[in-house]
Parts: sequence; C-alpha cells; structure tokens
Amino acid sequence: MKAIKVRFAPSPTGPLHIGGARSALFNFLFAAHERGKMVLRIEDTDLDRSDRVYEEEIIASLRWLGLTWDEGVDVGGENGPYRQTERLDIYDQYAKKLLAEDKAYYCFCQPEELEAERQLSGEKGDMIGYSGKCRSLSKEEIEEKIAQGIKPTIRFRVPEHKVLVVDDLVRGSVMFETDLLGDYIIVKSDGIPTYNFAVVIDDNLMGITHVIRAEEHLSNTPRQLLIYDALGFELPKFAHISLILGSDKQKMSKRHGATSVLQYRENGYLPEALFNFLSLLGWSAEGENEILSAAEIIKQFSLEKVSKSPAVFDVDKLNWLNSQYIKKLSIDELAPMLKPFLQDFIYQDELSRLTEEQYLLLVAAVHDRLVSLKDIVREAAAIFAPLTDKSYEAEAWQVLNEPGVPQVLEAFKSQMTTAGDVEFIKQVIKKLIKENKLKPKDVYMPLRCALSGVTHGPELPYLISIWGLDETIRRIDYTLEKIKKVTGS
Ligand code: GLU
Repeated sequence: MKAIKVRFAPSPTGPLHIGGARSALFNFLFAAHERGKMVLRIEDTDLDRSDRVYEEEIIASLRWLGLTWDEGVDVGGENGPYRQTERLDIYDQYAKKLLAEDKAYYCFCQPEELEAERQLSGEKGDMIGYSGKCRSLSKEEIEEKIAQGIKPTIRFRVPEHKVLVVDDLVRGSVMFETDLLGDYIIVKSDGIPTYNFAVVIDDNLMGITHVIRAEEHLSNTPRQLLIYDALGFELPKFAHISLILGSDKQKMSKRHGATSVLQYRENGYLPEALFNFLSLLGWSAEGENEILSAAEIIKQFSLEKVSKSPAVFDVDKLNWLNSQYIKKLSIDELAPMLKPFLQDFIYQDELSRLTEEQYLLLVAAVHDRLVSLKDIVREAAAIFAPLTDKSYEAEAWQVLNEPGVPQVLEAFKSQMTTAGDVEFIKQVIKKLIKENKLKPKDVYMPLRCALSGVTHGPELPYLISIWGLDETIRRIDYTLEKIKKVTGS
C-alpha cells in the first residue's frame, strides 16, 4: 500500500481563518494517526490577491497551533518547489500534452464576448457554461489568431453525457454530470494555470493519497476528476469536511467574532485549547471526555468519525475549554504568558512596582478567574484601581452598612500590624473569626467590600498581600470614614 500523504494547500490571499485551520488540522491529525506525511503547498496562482505577507502569516498561525509538516514551502522536500507560481513550467508541460492529445484546446474568446454570451444564456435560462465556440478551430485558424497577437486561454474539453462518481470518505458516493460543467479554462491567457488544473498536477506529483479539504471544494471535484483521467493519473481518496456555522446556524463570518487564528492568539486563547476545540468541529471523540491532548486526539482520530453535517462553532465551549487549559497551567508557566497582555496596561506604574514575587501572587489570585489570557487586564485593573467613592457597588454598600461592620474592620486593622504573606493574612482572618465568634462570611464579605467596593473578586488574602500593609490600611480607613460620614456614627 502507498504511504499515506496529505496536504494543506492554502491560497495566501488573507489570514488563516478558523475553517482553513480546521482543514489543516484534520489533515495533520489524519497523517499523524496513520503515520503518514503532510505537505504544505502554497497555491498562489491568483496573482492579484496573493501576498507573501499572508503566506508568512498562515505559516505562523499553523505553527502557533502546533502543526508540523514534512515537506513544504518553508521546510523544503524532494517534491518542490511548493509554491505554485514556481511550478509554471511543470503545468505548461501538462497543458501541452493535453493540447497535443486534443483533450484541451485554445480559446480566443475575449472576456467581453464571454460576458455577453453569459448574459444571453442567463436570460434565456440556458445552462451557464462555455458555448464551445472555439472547440473546433482548425490549425490554420489558431495560427492566424496567434499571429494577430490574441492571447488564448486553454480550455479543457469536457466529455459529453458522462456521469462521474466520487466516493467521498465523508460524504459517501457523490455523482456529477459532465453536461453541467461546460469546457472550463485550465490555463489563463497570461499562462497561469487555474486552481482545478494545478491542484491535480501537484497532488499527483507530490504523491498525495488523501485530499482532505473543505466542503466548498466538492463542486470543483468533478473538474479535477476529469483532469486526473485525461492525464492518466491515479485518483487520490477525497474527504470533504463540512462547513462551520456560527451559533445562529449561518455560515461563519466576521459577524460571529474573531475569524482568523492569530486573532484568537491576540485575544488570549491558548493554542492547545484551540487545537482541542477545532478537532471537535465535525469530529467526535470516543467517550464523554472532551478535554483531550494533541496526543490523545491523534490516537483517536479517524475520518469515519468525521460528520457529514455542518459543525457549529460554539464560542462558549471554546471559552470553557480555554479556561480549563489555563487552570491546568502552573503559576510559573502562566505568569510569563500574561505579560504580553499587560504591555499597554493602564496601571503600568503600579504593576512595575510589584516585585516578581508579588506579580506571581497577582497571577495566583486571578488564575481561576481567567477565561482568556487577556482577562488579566480586567482582573489586574480591578486590583490596582484606586478605591474611590465610585468604587462601591450597591450590593457592597449594603453589606458595609450592616451593624457590626465597622467593628469587624477595626478589629482587622488592629491585627494587621505588620505586613505578611498570604499565609499570615489567612491566619489573621481566621483568628478574627474565632475570637469574635463570627461566621467566615461575616468577616470575609465586609472586608472584601471595604477593601475593593465589590462583592466578588480574587481571593482576599492574595489581594491584601499584593496591596501590602499600607495600602490595605488606607483602604480600610477610607471605607470606615465613608461609613461614618453616611451613618453619622
Ligand atoms: N487553495 C485552495 C484553497 O485555499 C485549496 C483547495 C484544496 O485543498 O484543494 O481553498
């Protein structure tokens, strides 16, 4: 049996989107599971829209996600070049072969003519396709037009009345009628091949055994099958994976939030979480557990478990997975990962005054509250925001006005005579609870409200330890003063 080989073949016309990333991932998973190989090929034949910047961005996105490949534009290999615009002479040879065998022909129709033809056939309700005007030009006619300087395209001569069947590994058997195709262009008048032509030659020459790609390419498949046949190439297996829909069941678009992989990185998602999430978009793991490492996913992955129905991009699930992956990190791992998100932080001065130890405390304090790494900005801002009259939420203010609260705050103050670590602060609060025969909540809640003005937040002993003794006392005093002013007591 031929060694399994797949490819991801993006067009560098924009950043790598979630859909493309999922296609790349499924190829990667399949190859890894089967111990096959993967190729990264750049399909840059759309000269106007392709850009090296996008190519680099796509590669960076794939690498960030944790994908690797055995051959490709950046790593080389024996089947290169891996950029289509560097393979034009190869396509040219095959186009010449098809011309010589009369399986393709020169077409001199100009874009305006074709457009007029299309409009006419559209009005008449005829099938949209090429009329076949240049199908049977004589050698002389061809030479004459070339001598006139008219640059021809090359069209594939589609056999009539044939039914093509593709046995798709995801969609099952799919049929296409050649009469619905019309003779299509395989080489444009500037000598650049079209996607449907180049892709077949490349997949064949690169030894691709499985073409795993988005469902939107299913309609291109019959055109490609005909080229395989015309060139006498062995067919690979095809697997067209379903569309990704937004939670409103509409095709994923910018309306649904971030669409490019690097936007997810910027928004504080971990590559492992996105990898895990994308693998579940259209593929289902065995059992209930959905938090799976790359190794586990590779072990389980099979195309049989890839669903025919569209996958729904559930951002809540991604957020949940991301928070789970963040929770799994140690404080030492997480701390440096958060730093880039704090680069333009509004309390930069306060932040820079923290010792490394205090910074680790801050990270520990908010660890469980982070859904994305970016949340550090909100959490840290809540810690550094000065306590002012505007800080108090109504609910917190209610707590602070309960009887006995000033006494609890005073008692806390009198115990907090020296600065101490988290353990020390925990002990102080514990002692306070015990000595005053109070419930933990009756100490923690007033303290939290007095210190931050809100009823929820990171663990209190951590907060206090980050603020240090002076700031803690200053906050307590500020609140005591405010209560006094209001109650007059
Ligand atoms: N260049 C095509 C795209 O980006 C690849 C399609 C294919 O995998 O055959 O959509």
